Amino acid sequence: MTRFNALNLLRHALTGHKHWDEQWPQKEPKAEYDVVIVGAGGHGLGAAYYLASQHGITNVAVIDKGWLGGGNTGRNTTIIRSNYLYDESARLYDHAVDLWEGLSQELNYNVMYSRRGCLMLAHTVHDVQSFKRHIHANRLNGVDNRWLTKEEAKEYCPPLDLSPNARYPVMGAALQERAGTARHDAVAWGYARGAAARGVDIIENCPVTGIRRNADGSVAGVETAKGFIKAKKVAVSAAGHTSVVMETAGVRLPLESYPLQALVSEPIKPIFPCVVMSNAVHAYISQSDKGELVIGSGTDQYMSYSQRGGLPLIEHTIAAIVEIFPIFNRMRMLRKWGGIVDVTPDRSAILGKTPVPGLYVNCGWGTGGFKATPGAAHTFAWTIAKNEPHPINAPFTLERFRSGRLIDEAAAAAVAH
Ligand SMILES: Cc1cc2nc3c(=O)[nH]c(=O)nc-3n(C[C@H](O)[C@H](O)[C@H](O)COP(=O)(O)OP(=O)(O)OC[C@H]3O[C@@H](n4cnc5c(N)ncnc54)[C@H](O)[C@@H]3O)c2cc1C
Repeated sequence: MTRFNALNLLRHALTGHKHWDEQWPQKEPKAEYDVVIVGAGGHGLGAAYYLASQHGITNVAVIDKGWLGGGNTGRNTTIIRSNYLYDESARLYDHAVDLWEGLSQELNYNVMYSRRGCLMLAHTVHDVQSFKRHIHANRLNGVDNRWLTKEEAKEYCPPLDLSPNARYPVMGAALQERAGTARHDAVAWGYARGAAARGVDIIENCPVTGIRRNADGSVAGVETAKGFIKAKKVAVSAAGHTSVVMETAGVRLPLESYPLQALVSEPIKPIFPCVVMSNAVHAYISQSDKGELVIGSGTDQYMSYSQRGGLPLIEHTIAAIVEIFPIFNRMRMLRKWGGIVDVTPDRSAILGKTPVPGLYVNCGWGTGGFKATPGAAHTFAWTIAKNEPHPINAPFTLERFRSGRLIDEAAAAAVAH
């Protein structure tokens, strides 16, 4: 596969960019693979990439019911941060941030990781105390996070409104400078390209309808719209549909699927230099490189598999953003969309082995799994290859819902992005 570099760009420019290779070939499934991954989102494609690049396992298929990156990977608001409260989460998300920093070079594909910083606004005394607790916990874990006074926050993000009679006055903010955004599609495309170049088959438009097991209970392969595919190992990374797929193997997961929406405004000149989140008003905002304001909030209140979500939540989100940034009150919104997120009782992921030999699962990322993509994919590939957890994903077991050893980020972040 042709590498992207200055010389090749120049060479192809001279021939009108007509001779670039296909980025990843369209494949029909083989009868058998060492590993079949269900779900060609960032997590599934990333796991395939690391299986091939770090463990030399290339007889791998990644199968998606739709198009590659068409799930939550291509629908999210791309916020990346690692300022989670608990040690287990801090290690996992910070591992991901470490990988984000070198991902474009690693994949030879520009994922547009933009380290622009994330401000979490405090509007009440409780917010101030809670964020300071986060900052101390983060620092103990080597995760960057610091407290800004409201004046310092305004200096960092000039559109902030500090007027004392605001409905949600800003009392200060926690700042993680390594946080930021990346281009979501490019993450899926970069991993797909890297995996395909190493021999991985990416099979689109092929729903997996069931997981077949052998008489001894171990995994035998997957039933698909294109027939049965035998596999020594099956790894499921199907986000909002993971519980549906896993149920066909007889594994019940503690997951609930909710619509999560986002929306963007008309494009404007660069005005918004960072990411701003407010747990109190339950909304967050950043500006894309195209100039659109990218806005999101929490999930709908009810479970559903509709990829749309309800209008009241959008109204609430916009009202919240305008409360904090009156400067945007005449902006027009261009479009909104939704995805289906898989939420666990403690709002932390399940990443590892299952009770079925040869069956692995990576799910439960809820509203915040994009930021984890490289770290989760990297440790998931390790677990699949070695049939044992990587030290970083070891706490994220399915077993914790039996033992009660939860990683309770539900209480730690009202907006779990
Ligand atoms: C609106 C919105 C905003 C978000 N904002 C953020 C954010 O700012 N920051 C953040 O960190 N996270 C965010 N998230 C969450 C994040 O997008 C997800 O946690 C993450 O992308 C999950 O990646 P994935 O690869 O596991 O899933 P996906 O990208 O959803 O991939 C799963 C794939 O499985 C496929 N699939 C499902 N069932 C089957 C089947 N039966 N057979 C074959 N294939 C199947 C789907 O088609 C899909 O392509 C947001 C999500 C949404 C919806």
